[in-house]
Amino acid sequence: MITEQVKRQFIQIVGAENYDDSKAGRLVYSYDATPNFQSLPDAVIAPRNTKEVSEIVKICNNERIPIVPRGSGTNLCAGTCPTEGGIVIIFKHMNRILEIDEENLTVTVQPGVITLDLIQAVEAKGLFYPPDPSSMKISTIGGNINENSGGLRGLKYGVTRDYVMGLEVVLANGDIIRTGGKLAKDVAGYDLTRLFVGSEGTLGIITEATLKLIPMPETKQTMLALYEDLEAAARSVSAIIANKIIPTTLEFLDQPTLQVVESFVNIGLPTDVKAVLLIEQDGPKEVVERDMEAMARICREQHAISVQVAQTEEEANNLRTARRSALSALARLKPTTILEDATVPRSQIANMVKAINDIAKKYNVNICTFGHAGDGNLHPTCPTDVHDKDELHRVEQAFEDIFAKAIELGGTITGEHGVGVMKAPYLEWKLGKEGIAAMQAIKRALDPNNIMNPGKVFAKSTRKRVVITR
Ligand SMILES: Cc1cc2nc3c(=O)[nH]c(=O)nc-3n(C[C@H](O)[C@H](O)[C@H](O)COP(=O)(O)OP(=O)(O)OC[C@H]3O[C@@H](n4cnc5c(N)ncnc54)[C@H](O)[C@@H]3O)c2cc1C
Repeated sequence: MITEQVKRQFIQIVGAENYDDSKAGRLVYSYDATPNFQSLPDAVIAPRNTKEVSEIVKICNNERIPIVPRGSGTNLCAGTCPTEGGIVIIFKHMNRILEIDEENLTVTVQPGVITLDLIQAVEAKGLFYPPDPSSMKISTIGGNINENSGGLRGLKYGVTRDYVMGLEVVLANGDIIRTGGKLAKDVAGYDLTRLFVGSEGTLGIITEATLKLIPMPETKQTMLALYEDLEAAARSVSAIIANKIIPTTLEFLDQPTLQVVESFVNIGLPTDVKAVLLIEQDGPKEVVERDMEAMARICREQHAISVQVAQTEEEANNLRTARRSALSALARLKPTTILEDATVPRSQIANMVKAINDIAKKYNVNICTFGHAGDGNLHPTCPTDVHDKDELHRVEQAFEDIFAKAIELGGTITGEHGVGVMKAPYLEWKLGKEGIAAMQAIKRALDPNNIMNPGKVFAKSTRKRVVITR
């Protein structure tokens, strides 16, 4: 609850135009990309700078008001649903690229910068920021850092974590700290930068980030390998890596996904094969040519029925865009789309793909699978309808089996989408009681009043899709 007196204090800090407690305003920030999950905040606040963030947080800490920091709300784990009310902090005013430092190869940004804007701004200077979540046209850097997002280029270049060098963070008591910096080497104390990466807004609010850049790769090539057999495609992934080739991209799409994506993008993707691998390599021309030849040979050895190299950049770009559209394309099939991101060691990809198909049959549900196969990160996706309670129950059971299988194969319950509310009931499967206790100790130390994105990461109940209205 926000009292009239506290409301006046907030407005004094950010101005009336940046404080919204209207029903419409609250409704807009009551949900994110997670299907069938909604809970209303008490107010939405748009601070203009770090000092304002700090002042807001101090009030919230005194008054025990929950805070949900929010980027574009594209997370898929209900991470920005204000399940315990309180305020949503948005960063529409804190969305500037502050500096591109070509000597130190860094870029310093505010949290509200859109990922693609950052990628394009540095590319204009011949520099490269590799993390490229498929949502990059709308996702923010603050969201990417807090979910430790990955993308198509993750196999070779790593994920967001690998590019975060320094942070400015407002802690739950309102203190402002700086971690890391532009330094290539820095072992002064605990690595707090890494602690905040992937913390899902539960430990503090990121108000500035310094990110690592690398030189743009000289050249790149893209190809599509087609398969009549799902597991042959999955085996090719392991074989490529076992042959000591690390491509930039090694993506998998099964036939149901291909068919839906093709009807969405219309670029002539093959729809009569069981699976495809989208493979990309970048770097010096000779290396790219050598690796592409070797990977084409490996795919054929693993019974690819055809391997086609994109002849133009436009063709290559169409293929990448098609892959990035997979979720949006699948979302057209049914009223509800549930996408997960169980992840296994790369060597277990074939087993995981087979298990997903077996589980789908067992529960009589339709699961399409695509994902970052080179990272062992698959996105089993189920087009369904939340109004069909019986089917929804079977879908949730199927996903529970999928998470259990991922753990059994040495994997994890989430490779890049985060825990939020939706994966919290399964976190203990991955970490054990002791692991959870260690994380809770960190949370208590940094946020003793549990105001930072409460109800996320640590489970209260079993997985439920809920609509909470106040
Ligand atoms: C179509 C689609 C495709 C996607 N593709 C990918 C993909 O390829 N790879 C991938 O990893 N994910 C993907 N995602 C998931 C999602 O886009 C990412 O998790 C993304 O990083 C979220 O960014 P956002 O700005 O929307 O953050 P939000 O969803 O708004 O927030 C995400 C989390 O970060 C916290 N947060 C946000 N800003 C701050 C801040 N300044 N300080 C502290 N905490 C903060 C929030 O509290 C929340 O816990 C996809 C989602 C969709 C809908």
